[in-house]
Amino acid sequence: MKQILPHFRTLLIFTLMFLLLACSDSVTDSTEQQSTTDTDSETETETETETETIVEAADPPFFFDNAVIETITTESCTLSGGTQTTCYRITIAGEPVVDEIGPFCPPNIDSDASQGGIWFDGSGEVYDIDGEFISNLDSLYGDGWLLYDPSTGEVNITDTQTACEAAARPNVDAAYQNYCVQCDLDYYGGGINETLLLPVTPIPLANPSYVNSNMGISLNGVILAAQAPVDAILSNYTIAAFDDCGGHINPNDGYHYHAATGCSTGPDEEDGHASLIGYALDGYGIYAMLDASGFEETDLGECRGHTDDSRGYHYHVASPSENMFIGCFHGEQGEWIGSE
Ligand SMILES: [Zn+2]
Ligand SMILES: [Zn+2]
Repeated sequence: MKQILPHFRTLLIFTLMFLLLACSDSVTDSTEQQSTTDTDSETETETETETETIVEAADPPFFFDNAVIETITTESCTLSGGTQTTCYRITIAGEPVVDEIGPFCPPNIDSDASQGGIWFDGSGEVYDIDGEFISNLDSLYGDGWLLYDPSTGEVNITDTQTACEAAARPNVDAAYQNYCVQCDLDYYGGGINETLLLPVTPIPLANPSYVNSNMGISLNGVILAAQAPVDAILSNYTIAAFDDCGGHINPNDGYHYHAATGCSTGPDEEDGHASLIGYALDGYGIYAMLDASGFEETDLGECRGHTDDSRGYHYHVASPSENMFIGCFHGEQGEWIGSE
């Protein structure tokens, strides 16, 4: 498939050139008659022909099979800095291509780490959510925590759609304080489609910008979300449990990641560099934090990016303990359109 694409692109370019030539040769062409009397009209017409047409992308970014709706198209777009350019239109397939979703909350205070997921609050630690973690929350976060029934040891879990939707939001329903929060993707038909526009050619910003929005998309079709709002979560005496892949489910976004723990890793890079894991909203690639030998790059900038000859500018994702993917956007962001 990869080998066929360049030929397809060449064919497409020749086809476009032929159409453009045909247009400009034909004086009576209705498009030209409708265009303005401006002497630049021919240039304008050509630009419009190129940018307003939605075409199948000739050389689309790499994703795992079935992670995104098959046809990635290109269309004109305006980036966050005002640059008008061409973007890939990418739609997450809805049901993410992951081996397994969950577990999130362990059933009781005797549960081992395999029965629960992970938790991080940005303070530099990643905790296994096992029974011991649940029973010691007061020593970690102070008085007022009791996430289980002391008589049975059962953990309070939001195990219905009603409970999930009352608790998986910033203003947690008071009835679900002291709950371990989890939702089931089946409540949302197995997943939620999300569409985004990524610039085909990233445009660097003069000054990097920090925006706490969805940061991008993983190769396996999962949202790389904004920082988890851990202060709001903890102030409501809840733990919005992540699974071991750093993901969890909410009613708006479906399954989404707040950390990269190795569950979306692309092919090995030829030069031994860390592998691609996804794309940031500004179109630059996001690579794993470490390469295969456990080496972390030492020249990363504030956005956690650097430049090399093979990849140009690209990011290396942060550790899960930092509750973020990248430090800021190096380039103008595309657009997160959302579910359609
Ligand atoms: Zn979340
Ligand atoms: Zn690198």
